[in-house]
Amino acid sequence: MRRVKKLSIANYIVMILVASELLMALFMLFFFYYYSDVIRESEIRKELIPRNKQVMSEIDFSGNEISYDWKEIYEETEIYVMIYCDDNMIEMPDMPEFLNIIQDKGYSNILQKIKINDEIYYFKDFKTHKNKKYDIYLRYVVNLNSISSHYISTIRIGYVAIIMIVILISTVAIITGKYLKNAFKKMKKEVESVGQMNDISKRIAYDGIFAEMQILCDAENRMLDRMENNLNKQKQYISDVSHELRTPISVIMAQAEYGEKQDIPSEDRIDAFSVIKKQSYKMNELVMTLLELSRLDQENYKIMKEDINFAELASFVCEGIVENTGQEVHIKYECQPAYGKGDIHLLSIAISNLVTNAIKYSEPAGTITVSTGETDTEVYIRVKDEGIGIRKENLKMIFERFYKAEKSRHTKGYGLGLPLSQRIAQLHDGYIAVESEEGKGSTFTIFIKK
Ligand code: ADP
Repeated sequence: MRRVKKLSIANYIVMILVASELLMALFMLFFFYYYSDVIRESEIRKELIPRNKQVMSEIDFSGNEISYDWKEIYEETEIYVMIYCDDNMIEMPDMPEFLNIIQDKGYSNILQKIKINDEIYYFKDFKTHKNKKYDIYLRYVVNLNSISSHYISTIRIGYVAIIMIVILISTVAIITGKYLKNAFKKMKKEVESVGQMNDISKRIAYDGIFAEMQILCDAENRMLDRMENNLNKQKQYISDVSHELRTPISVIMAQAEYGEKQDIPSEDRIDAFSVIKKQSYKMNELVMTLLELSRLDQENYKIMKEDINFAELASFVCEGIVENTGQEVHIKYECQPAYGKGDIHLLSIAISNLVTNAIKYSEPAGTITVSTGETDTEVYIRVKDEGIGIRKENLKMIFERFYKAEKSRHTKGYGLGLPLSQRIAQLHDGYIAVESEEGKGSTFTIFIKK
């Protein structure tokens, strides 16, 4: 797996926030830079409208000659006014010399920008229709520096707002980062303290406000639950194995010690050997089953599948058992054709376990019904007995390793047959279903995917 350089979430969030706010600020600056002209011109246009109204009110258009008072016109603002009549400037006392260039420009009712002596000027013409004889228009000239325009304050407010936003978001990002860092530190401490303790029953406690951290803690706690459960199972397993091996080993040791004595009758020595042999076989059976289980438990264990006629396999396995049990057994076959694929060796073990149990937990003359069949997707092998049955509350435990229900504690077996059979079914993408009623009998069915 490729190792990616790890980054603190808190730093990551702060970085993202700061980067995005800087980007936003840059974008706003860019916007202001490019649109300040547009804003400025629109402000000038707005200012010129009342100015034009005021100038118009100072000019008398009623007679043949137009008359006005320059002093009145210039009194209030620094917006220069030029009056033109049929393209000729009528008069403009006190007109600054630099305005000559503007004076010579043709009629323009749109706002124009011009640079004179390193200063920016705007000018725009307004036509009046008050005098029928002449075309009269008024030209207004504005020096950018002298005009008291709102745009400057608008732009200033814009820049101040950008700076404020940058400061505000940076502060929020830093505070959030610190808060997150503290929350993570707290959780890390908690996780580490749980990890360092030998007590697997300890759980991580989280009382913060972040839902994701709670989810992480819950997931970690669930994992600890599973680990604790598995560890307990393992402990139980080891103790069960030791327990099961202890009895035959003690018997073997006792018989071996007795058998090696000089002064015992030879029949006793032979008996001792036969007990040792019996117990060794028992131990061998247990160890072999355990080995088989651990082999099948391996995650990458692959079964060897071949075509199987399940009806034939079931009756073949049953016949073998009947021959070897040495007791009277009634097996009724209700086998429908059932074909599928599977590991013939493993499936024989699973069927054999179910049939052996059915015999073990039934009265000697009890009938055992073995049936097979298939659906569109599954093949099944069913073993039904009329034996002691299983209590409802015990049903969920019968697939646990070394479990034996009370009533069957004294029968032969280690409580490994059903777990092994279930594992075999699982390896075939199948499962074992049980129906049982205490005192009436049980039905075990192995279902296998076709
Ligand atoms: P065992 O070797 O004890 O039979 P299994 O794993 O095969 O171990 O079965 C586990 C337990 O389930 C048995 O001890 C018994 O209590 C119960 N059990 C299994 N099969 C039957 C059955 N056909 N009838 C009644 N009880 C059964």
